[in-house]
Amino acid sequence: MKRVSILGATGSIGRNTLDLIARRPADYRVVALTGGRNIAALAQAATSLGAEIAVTAHDDLLGDLRDALAGSGVAAAAGATALEEAAARPADWVMSAIVGAAGLRPGLAALEQGATLALANKESLVAAGPLVMAAARRTGARVLPVDSEHSAIFQALAGEDPAAVRRVVITASGGAFRDWPLADLARATPAQAARHPNWDMGQRITIDSASMFNKALEMIEAREFFGFDPDRIEVVIHPESLVHALVGFCDGAMMAHVGTPDMRHAIGYALNWPERAELPVAPLDLVQAGQLTFRAPDLERYPALRLARAVMARGGLAGAGFNAAKERALDHFIAGRVGFPAMSEMVEAVLDRLDRQPGRLDGAVTLESVREIDQVSRALADDIAKEQAE
Ligand code: NAD
Ligand code: MG
Repeated sequence: MKRVSILGATGSIGRNTLDLIARRPADYRVVALTGGRNIAALAQAATSLGAEIAVTAHDDLLGDLRDALAGSGVAAAAGATALEEAAARPADWVMSAIVGAAGLRPGLAALEQGATLALANKESLVAAGPLVMAAARRTGARVLPVDSEHSAIFQALAGEDPAAVRRVVITASGGAFRDWPLADLARATPAQAARHPNWDMGQRITIDSASMFNKALEMIEAREFFGFDPDRIEVVIHPESLVHALVGFCDGAMMAHVGTPDMRHAIGYALNWPERAELPVAPLDLVQAGQLTFRAPDLERYPALRLARAVMARGGLAGAGFNAAKERALDHFIAGRVGFPAMSEMVEAVLDRLDRQPGRLDGAVTLESVREIDQVSRALADDIAKEQAE
């Protein structure tokens, strides 16, 4: 019987995780489920799976959550501290599927209690990779990747000598605007950006796929999780989204991970690791797929990829600044305050301003320094959004 908690249980990754757990109820005991504003979905999942506690991130919704859970035997809590406490409840396996830097502290709390952390929340590695990985080393807790590309790399590396790796290729669909004329991007709307060609994901990551900020985060995630040299991390556009990543070795062999685009594969791999188990994932019909195509990403269309390389070269707190500026730029785009291309301009300008403040990006990566850079970067992004609007 595995004790499991899901942070971000009401989101896209969270719902897919609940689906796998609900299919094998005898194998799991659900400890904590967390969510945001969708109280009905949170309460429904917690009640049907018999969770110990359900937690909403929003203090003002505690009353609603209590009402929704009345008589169910599931405890209710709300707020940022309650989220961390939920993650710290004794469990064997914790899914980190909150979106954004808000996932960092709860994820660390899960590692501190020694639980295996299934990490979908790539932002915590981008903002504070050394902190997360050090917490895992200190407590002996495992971090298992859930991002499909990183799960693919992890699987391709199983049983291999890391010293034999020469290159890692992460694939990208190219997102909603892959084939749009560049000149049209300035008029792209959030609704258009939120249509992914192949994957069904949350709104924020889907828009980040159109800008390839998602791929930029994933390059940094690969560096932080596996320790790869940035020069060995490559990105190719693969419109079919069937090859998730490839690892190249010193003898020229490349191990590719191939499968249908269904996050329940990567989630299930992390849930069952080190074993493999049957999963409700459709088998890939290669003949029907017909062909796998690849092309180089155009850095003019996807400046985020260039910024990711600059962030990795800069090191220190640059990842925390990059992630926060990106989150804020995305807020501004979703709210209709800035255009689509303005997001990468805003992030680049934030990084430039941070870099011009002596020592600003050089400190050790601690919870405190990450929090401070995060706040400063969001404020700078707001200033720049105002300047762009003028
Ligand atoms: P989503 O928006 O569908 O769900 C996010 C979840 O986090 C929800 O439960 C929401 O209530 C909660 N949440 C949002 N803001 C919060 C806050 N400030 N504090 C606490 N909880 C908050 O997102 P998603 O697509 O499921 O993505 C979750 C994470 O997984 C992200 O880090 C994303 O990059 C990563 N990821 C997602 C996919 C995918 O297929 N959706 C694939 C790879 C990686
Ligand atoms: Mg991914």
